[in-house]
Amino acid sequence: MAASISIELTANKKNKPAADQLGFGKYFTDHMFIMDYSTEEGWHQPRIVPYQPIVLDPAAKVFHYGQTVFEGLKAYKTDDQRILLFRPHRNFQRLNQSNDRLSIPPIDEDLALEALQQLVLTDQDWIPSAEGTSLYVRPFVIATEAALGVTPSQHYQFIIILSPVGSYYKEGIKPVAIHVESEYVRAVAGGVGTAKTAGNYAAGLKAQELASGQGYAQVLWLDGVHHKYIEEVGSMNVFFKIGDTVVTPALNGSFLAGITRESVLQLLHHWNVPVEERQLSIDELVEAHRNGTLKEAFGTGTAAVISPIGELSWQGERLRIGEGQTGELSAKLYETVTGIQKGRLEDPLQWTKDITKVQTGV
Ligand SMILES: *Cc1c(COP(=O)(O)O)cnc(C)c1O
Repeated sequence: MAASISIELTANKKNKPAADQLGFGKYFTDHMFIMDYSTEEGWHQPRIVPYQPIVLDPAAKVFHYGQTVFEGLKAYKTDDQRILLFRPHRNFQRLNQSNDRLSIPPIDEDLALEALQQLVLTDQDWIPSAEGTSLYVRPFVIATEAALGVTPSQHYQFIIILSPVGSYYKEGIKPVAIHVESEYVRAVAGGVGTAKTAGNYAAGLKAQELASGQGYAQVLWLDGVHHKYIEEVGSMNVFFKIGDTVVTPALNGSFLAGITRESVLQLLHHWNVPVEERQLSIDELVEAHRNGTLKEAFGTGTAAVISPIGELSWQGERLRIGEGQTGELSAKLYETVTGIQKGRLEDPLQWTKDITKVQTGV
């Protein structure tokens, strides 16, 4: 193990919000993890400190050139008070893939995982236990060097913050309407679409705002070259059940390789459901809708886990899917993945990491 993590506990614990007030990413816990990088010292001084503002020079490169990456995962409290993380090592592997694409130096994945565990245990009283709630974990890296030259920063900070989040589905899992975007694009192969980096989200806000104004929950992005092939939805990957086969776009270098996507694929293989990862055009989807073979559609991501799609809008046409109801497979996937995450179901693929007994090293 690399340098040990120091812990400075807060003298002022905050009041915790009520479970029905949580929402998403509105409240933050009492502590945060922070570690610095310089070209001379590498990553150093890993520490847990009271949650607090960070002071940055106005010339810090993150503000000017967007050299930053993030991750998102969740910690769950089980019915018998154990604390489970869902596939956390996959998030730190992906963080380093994003780092590599953004010319940010890699982070020791074992150290990051150790930091995450210690931070979650330090603030374990903040993990909500009401149905559908969890503790959202947001690790991120920012370029902090104060210099305006367009070169990779010589200084960074790696920070982890925690936010108790409410149930995504207050009245049970419910299908959403999605706008298929025909004008704006999110990313192209060769760009940064496969990295979880801030610019991708800033680039998507305009289309998202327009779609939201028309009553759509999210946009479905098409590829940036032909405006034809399905990529992903907002911050979710996307799956379609066409006939008896589940189809999802093959990883093509322009959208994010979701960990929920990977988990759903593994489950479908485990259940012997026919799956195809391939190129899928909007025309093929419209045709499948016309001939009645488009049975289900759903998004996958850490926040909602499974988000059934009840309607797609494409060039003024509204395509209702599964009569606007949650499909059988979508429901089964949701129940299975969330059941594993909450420690209520068998975990045949060993996705959860029980951190209940890890010592906090204080
Ligand atoms: C985070 C994210 C996803 C989903 O990834 P998960 O690992 O399943 O949470 C999909 N698309 C984008 C653009 C994302 O940022």
